[in-house]
Amino acid sequence: MNETEYLIIGAGPTGLGAASRLNERKQDWHMLEAVDGFGGLAATFKDERGFLWDQGGHVQFSHYDTFDRYMNLALGADGWLPHQRESWCWVRRRWVPYPFQNNLHRLEKEDRWKCVKGLLDAAESQRAGTIGVRKSQIENFAEWMLATFGEGVTEIFMRPYNFKVWAFPAEQLDRGWIGERVAVPALKNVLKSICTGEDSVSWGPNAVFRFPQSGGTGAVWNAIGRMLRQERISLSTPVVHVDVAGRTVETAGGARWKYRQLISTIPLDKLIALAPGVVASDAANGLLFSATNVVGIGLAGQPPEHLRTKCWMYFPESNSPYYRVTVFSNYSPNNVPLPGRQWSLMTETSESSEKPVRHETLVEDTINALVEDGLIPDRSAICSRTLRRLPQAYPTPFLGRDAVVHPILRAFESRDIWSRGRFGAWKYEAANQDHSFAQGYECVERLLASGEAEMEPTLFTPTLVNGRRNP
Ligand SMILES: Cc1cc2nc3c(=O)[nH]c(=O)nc-3n(C[C@H](O)[C@H](O)[C@H](O)COP(=O)(O)OP(=O)(O)OC[C@H]3O[C@@H](n4cnc5c(N)ncnc54)[C@H](O)[C@@H]3O)c2cc1C
Repeated sequence: MNETEYLIIGAGPTGLGAASRLNERKQDWHMLEAVDGFGGLAATFKDERGFLWDQGGHVQFSHYDTFDRYMNLALGADGWLPHQRESWCWVRRRWVPYPFQNNLHRLEKEDRWKCVKGLLDAAESQRAGTIGVRKSQIENFAEWMLATFGEGVTEIFMRPYNFKVWAFPAEQLDRGWIGERVAVPALKNVLKSICTGEDSVSWGPNAVFRFPQSGGTGAVWNAIGRMLRQERISLSTPVVHVDVAGRTVETAGGARWKYRQLISTIPLDKLIALAPGVVASDAANGLLFSATNVVGIGLAGQPPEHLRTKCWMYFPESNSPYYRVTVFSNYSPNNVPLPGRQWSLMTETSESSEKPVRHETLVEDTINALVEDGLIPDRSAICSRTLRRLPQAYPTPFLGRDAVVHPILRAFESRDIWSRGRFGAWKYEAANQDHSFAQGYECVERLLASGEAEMEPTLFTPTLVNGRRNP
């Protein structure tokens, strides 16, 4: 029987955040990871033709000094390419800069008026409290969209786009995650952009971001993993059972590990199944999530002129399966095997019980839509195509989520099992790479101090953390 004080399950950003802090504090720890590498959902893959693919569009921006320090340690200050976000929405067969609602001047005049009228009606109804739902009474994301943007923006962009990305109707989504994720423009600014015809593009926490020079996003997590003591890490070692009473973990290879504290970063529904007896086995049924299908298309030649500086694009229309397309070769020329002579597009298509996807035809459907949307001018330039399905990609911010998730987390904590991370704690608004790393890091701080939940602000007060942008 192996023994350690702190046992970590999973070597994604959360597990690596926990391990990094334990390492700094010279503690006794060990990490078990199912696959043969670091990074989890933030890992990068090379296809048969040598094109690199992240698992969906990953960009680096941060709310934390500690995260930035680790990023610089990982790749060195010059291991990064800085980017000014250039992101667009493809709506009604025209490009509108992101955020859509801040750039209505780009629409046809009928649509423009529809959107402005909706915004005016929404503002009026909030003032008078007569029409629609008052903001204080809003219960779900659908009502929030309507009360905030009115009918035009909701119909033309918000509702179709959000169904495509979340794969659940907006009525089933909470509004607590919105914070820094959805731009809410002042009416004055909307009208200003319409009158002046000027694009307004600087909104949001990721207006500037950075990307690794080489190796894709996964290069960061490989480097962080390699900075740790390798004898403390077991890769290709899936955990198959947690004996909660005996404080032991069993791996697929039959090894057993005794722990004092267990930090689990695997999806919470999987932990419930692996560690029976803590909560009812059907407690996981209410945890909604969606899958994402990532299609990578490698192409010979140069991107068309209009894509040369674009980062990513949003697609609310029903002609395409994808909700987002990234010009992945624009992030780093090294994302393709022949830099300068090839380029690449990466698409993301969500999937859930409410939104099935035909996998057999997805790559072909994607290519057809990319051609129709003007992103692939010449089909014969395609030299690589790849499909990767992420069975759990987005932890859905479903209605009443915290009332379901928090008691489960507390039940595990009472047994010294700390479930943290994107799916470990199921909190979308605190589930980017920086948040995940911080969740692991802060959890260790709390454990070492025998502290309370306030010591984990990322998990328990994400609005506060997200409001504290790191320059
Ligand atoms: C489509 C998409 C786009 C994203 N875009 C961005 C972005 O732009 N910017 C950003 O910062 N973040 C982004 N993210 C989020 C980022 O990927 C996550 O923050 C991060 O990967 C979550 O880290 P984690 O450690 O919590 O979980 P994971 O990355 O899921 O890691 C969990 C680890 O546990 C391992 N594991 C699972 N089961 C077992 C088992 N039984 N035994 C042992 N190990 C096990 C897994 O193999 C995995 O390595 C995106 C994510 C997705 C899916």
